[in-house]
Amino acid sequence: MTQDEWGHVRGELLKSVGKNNFSAWIDPITFEGIEGRTAQLVVPTSFIGTWVSQHFGDVILRHMMSAGAEVDRIEFSVDAQGRASGATQVEPVAKPAPKPSVNGTRSAPAATTAQELPESTLNANFTFADFVVGKPNELAHAAARRVAEGGPVSFNPLFLYGGVGLGKTHLMHAIAWELRNNKPDLKVIYLSAEQFMYRFIRALRDQDTLSFKEVFRSIDVLMVDDVQFIAGKNSTQEEFFHTFNALVELGKQIIISGDRAPVDMEELDNRIASRLQCGLVVDLHPTDYELRLGILQQKVDAQRERTPDLKIAPGVLEFIAHRISSNVRVLEGALTRLFAFADLIGCEITMDLTQECLSDILRASDRKVTMDEIIKKTCEHYHLRQSDLMSPSRARNIARPRQMAMYLCKKLTTRSLPEIGRKFGGRDHTTILHGVRKIEELISVDSQIAEDAELLRRMLEA
Ligand code: ADP
Ligand code: MG
Repeated sequence: MTQDEWGHVRGELLKSVGKNNFSAWIDPITFEGIEGRTAQLVVPTSFIGTWVSQHFGDVILRHMMSAGAEVDRIEFSVDAQGRASGATQVEPVAKPAPKPSVNGTRSAPAATTAQELPESTLNANFTFADFVVGKPNELAHAAARRVAEGGPVSFNPLFLYGGVGLGKTHLMHAIAWELRNNKPDLKVIYLSAEQFMYRFIRALRDQDTLSFKEVFRSIDVLMVDDVQFIAGKNSTQEEFFHTFNALVELGKQIIISGDRAPVDMEELDNRIASRLQCGLVVDLHPTDYELRLGILQQKVDAQRERTPDLKIAPGVLEFIAHRISSNVRVLEGALTRLFAFADLIGCEITMDLTQECLSDILRASDRKVTMDEIIKKTCEHYHLRQSDLMSPSRARNIARPRQMAMYLCKKLTTRSLPEIGRKFGGRDHTTILHGVRKIEELISVDSQIAEDAELLRRMLEA
């Protein structure tokens, strides 16, 4: 696509998004070219990039395609004259590190060979100073701090786990930054399990596994993020296990993260799981209200340093902390949007503006009950195993709770009868309907059943 054609796309965009939107969001964009099937657009600030990709990404793409361009995604990068930050995509991505040298003492960059230590990319914002500590993460934070002292290895490995967006990667980068500053002689390597795998596969392909092993075994502190990625990938797991053992035997510190506890990673090699279990396993709990509010306040303070005019009405942060899910990444996304809003409209962020600006995020965060939760709670309530509930047994003490669970699925979720049927071990939708009707009938005549239904409903909706 040429600049002329981009000019045409701009004309079309003006028609579809309207003048105001066009001048606020589209006009500042520079078209750089197309690489592969990705259109490269440059924006003056990362806020605009985030905003545009969220709000106008689709329509831009559509107009480019109808102008004949062969594209299927857009990548935004920030103008060099703006802040030196990296590409902005729909997902917030880690910024490229300020060129960390992996080995603090090395001067001239050596030719990149397989023997080269993997370069760790650290996000400049993921430091301990930027990490807000609260009840849900205090243990993980304390353990990370301890490891970051770089003293004698006290627990090995440190295994951090928790759901997405709760700060695992942030803590690992913070450890790496701290060690780089305080112990520059240590070889500290941070990489994702995925990168570990690709390196290993490349070494296999280049018939260079020996140097792969040497490189990894010369490390002082190894951090592998998102280990669940290699669960089930057998030769990678095997190699990881050997690397791991070798380093532990040499008394080197290892830090690993995962989305679940080692024992709950079904496809993870049992030997690895039990090895991981030997160290210190700490989890990051979903955030609570206080922590969310603390994080919001910290990010607003940081933003104020950049844009001192930022005005947020009282109660807005409390409202967001209250309403938005436990995932910090979603929280940050919401703030980024609000900041963009404030930046461009130049007035105070009121409660009304907040609700309007974040309506989609707020809606998505509304608590929804899942069929899995219903089944779990129903089993707990009736002291049954899930396998009993799913079994074909018609015994009253099993069939009734099963019907109760079906009833709750129908009432508390938007699932259809066939979907519920599939969930309950492939039962026919007429069976589900019968179960739902049965409970409805019983509720009006059997006070025990009515009470059970009410109790379960309240627990699930809490
Ligand atoms: P995970 O690796 O667990 O999926 P990340 O470490 O990538 O999550 O965190 C997601 C985002 O939330 C990051 O931008 C991170 O800086 C931020 N974040 C998470 N926890 C905290 C915290 N306690 N204080 C400040 N920022 C946090
Ligand atoms: Mg992560």
